[in-house]
Amino acid sequence: MTKIAKPRADRVSHPRTVEQLIVGKPTSDGAGVKLTRVLTQGLQRRLDPFLMLDAFGSDNPDDYIAGFPDHPHRGFETVTYMIAGRMRHRDNAGHEGLLENGGVQWMTAGRGVVHSEIPQQEEGVMEGFQLWLNLPGKDKMGAPWYRDFAAADLPRFVTDAGVAVTVIAGESQGVSGAVTREATAPLYLDLHLPAKTSFVQKLPPRHNAFVYVYRGAVSIAGSEVPAQRMAILANAAQADGVVIESAGEARVLLIAGQPLNEPIAQYGPFVMNSEQEIYQALADFREGRLA
Ligand code: MN
Repeated sequence: MTKIAKPRADRVSHPRTVEQLIVGKPTSDGAGVKLTRVLTQGLQRRLDPFLMLDAFGSDNPDDYIAGFPDHPHRGFETVTYMIAGRMRHRDNAGHEGLLENGGVQWMTAGRGVVHSEIPQQEEGVMEGFQLWLNLPGKDKMGAPWYRDFAAADLPRFVTDAGVAVTVIAGESQGVSGAVTREATAPLYLDLHLPAKTSFVQKLPPRHNAFVYVYRGAVSIAGSEVPAQRMAILANAAQADGVVIESAGEARVLLIAGQPLNEPIAQYGPFVMNSEQEIYQALADFREGRLA
């Protein structure tokens, strides 16, 4: 059952502007899954606490069928949002889940998870996103955790203007998301904007924020943001939120979070604070201590 909550209309008097538009880089990962890396390593500092955003979308099974066989993670969280398709998740702790159309899997790797992410379809469209969210140093070696949310379990509301809002994390117009996190305070919204509508979201000025357009195009403080572009929103001290306007139908992700301002040391699927901790993660993985 989809939850319908009565939204409280937010107001923003100094909307954020677009600092930069980013075009993702085509790449492949896992056992040859084609994807677009929208948030790359070079933007981790600017978009702290976010470490990566991958967009995948194809109707050619060759692009996705091999999936992501067993691989490790340590030190951060992965948030997989499936727009279309079916993917099975299994991990070394015996957890298993099926991620389907509109569902979200939130996984906290903590001190270590070894898992696989394998498509459960041989044809049709596979489309979605994987976001990596950093953990504060004090939580990087904490217990792993994960949860699957079916589309129907995600808080959702429709604004007076007709914008459909799915609140994956954080809070929008008084509606709390599926997941909240104290240290990084992530906001993760999926917005479906009908033609000639706008959406307003309050954002703390220091929180780093970006918008990714996956259908149509939008306008933010006078800047056009076309499809398949990420707009990094400027952090002006007086800005109190963002206004997203759409001339035609559009679908966008609005993501924001509180920066951790800690050193970031990444080696592949391990994200820690220091090189020493990365060596330890590699050693623990090789010796089977990660899981
Ligand atoms: Mn993974």
